[in-house]
Amino acid sequence: MVGITGYGVHIPSYRLTGQAVGAAWGGPGGKTERAVANYDEDAVTMAWAALDSCLAGKPRGEVGGIYLASTSLPYLEMGNSALVASALDLARDIHSADFAGSLRAGASAFLSAVNGVKAGMAKSILVAVSDLRQAEPGSPAELEVGDAAGGLMVGSDNVIAEIKETISLTREMVDVWRREGEIYPHEEDARFIRENAILPLLKEAAEKLLKKAGLTKDKINKVVYTAPDARTSQTFQKSLGFPETSYPAVELYQKIGNVGAALPVLLLIQALETAKPGDRILWLAYGGGCDAFLLEATDKIGSFPNRGILAQALESRRAISSYGKFLQFRGNLPAEKVNPYTSTIILNREESAIIRLHGVRCQNCGERYFPPRRICKKCRAKDKFEDWKLGRRGKIYTLTKDHLPPTPDPPVIMASADIEGGGRFYGQMADCDPAKAEIGMEVELTFRRLHEGSGFINYFWKMRPI
Ligand code: ZN
Repeated sequence: MVGITGYGVHIPSYRLTGQAVGAAWGGPGGKTERAVANYDEDAVTMAWAALDSCLAGKPRGEVGGIYLASTSLPYLEMGNSALVASALDLARDIHSADFAGSLRAGASAFLSAVNGVKAGMAKSILVAVSDLRQAEPGSPAELEVGDAAGGLMVGSDNVIAEIKETISLTREMVDVWRREGEIYPHEEDARFIRENAILPLLKEAAEKLLKKAGLTKDKINKVVYTAPDARTSQTFQKSLGFPETSYPAVELYQKIGNVGAALPVLLLIQALETAKPGDRILWLAYGGGCDAFLLEATDKIGSFPNRGILAQALESRRAISSYGKFLQFRGNLPAEKVNPYTSTIILNREESAIIRLHGVRCQNCGERYFPPRRICKKCRAKDKFEDWKLGRRGKIYTLTKDHLPPTPDPPVIMASADIEGGGRFYGQMADCDPAKAEIGMEVELTFRRLHEGSGFINYFWKMRPI
């Protein structure tokens, strides 16, 4: 039996509210809000966070592949998935690949993972789907899009939802597009495209999948499909013709926005959160065609440890203090430039410490150090160290709030924390209300963008309140 063996999510904590947008541009703004990636987050860091939550309590050594899907990968050329694999400290002898170019990229990555496990290529494969959606300032789309990531684990042990059947359709269609060098996607004649291209495609995929599986619509417990927004999703329901109880709640669109390639996976996770053993889930993801899956929840679904994780992530939110700050987060306003020194040589040579967070343990006296060093401070032994993995949680030992460095979210909080299992970590804090930052605060390490220098992005770890 091959299927989903785990899932995880990452919803950035900041929300841009209709009120803030209304105050900036005039107009009511409405009650909806959307998730906003912090200034130090991107598709890579959000993918890491979703997979890190997916992997909680699971042995990482058994993962044999990692696929990363997004329409907003920070690097057009360079293995984004390899970077995420390294930050997750996965084994080095695994397959990795980036999937891009379509809102269906996540479903395509998932299908490849399913086929990879079925073919015996790997015991389990991780799929991360992460998107940071941009919209022109002041456009209606600004409140409709959002940023988030979802992670799925595909395998054959402890399956919570089995893959029963799949079909794929390929259709050239001009619905939403973005060309090389462009930041904002285009969408024209939206209503025509939605009703005459997207909806017929979803219907065709659903009918062909049901026919292949030998099922009728009334045998489906949950139908998961994407739409550009909540209203269109509700319009589609009437035409798709499944039992009314099988449709998903549209709250994701209203709470975090249309999160692009990540939306199909988050909607699937939303369905898995309430699925009962034996429930049949029909999952449709469109974009240049449609990938369709029939899944069946197993008796393992009720006791799955991450169940409820999406609802939790949706609740943990704080409104971004101003629309101006939102523009700064997205780099839409001129800001003071910092040109820090960075070196690809150091990054390559010290990948194990910088990205994998490996420190050292003294073989003579057992003292642990991060970052790695050559001489033990305790027993003075030289070059007698072995590889040791730094923990991921700790307690703030001391901190300072620095108002001088240019940052979209001042002040920069620099802290040092005692890490569970030994070692002390010094660095910046992330997602932290400065008024609440204090000594003794419990933190976890999170993978973020640190700065850009020499044309590339320095990723490193920051401390985030638990
Ligand atoms: Zn020592």
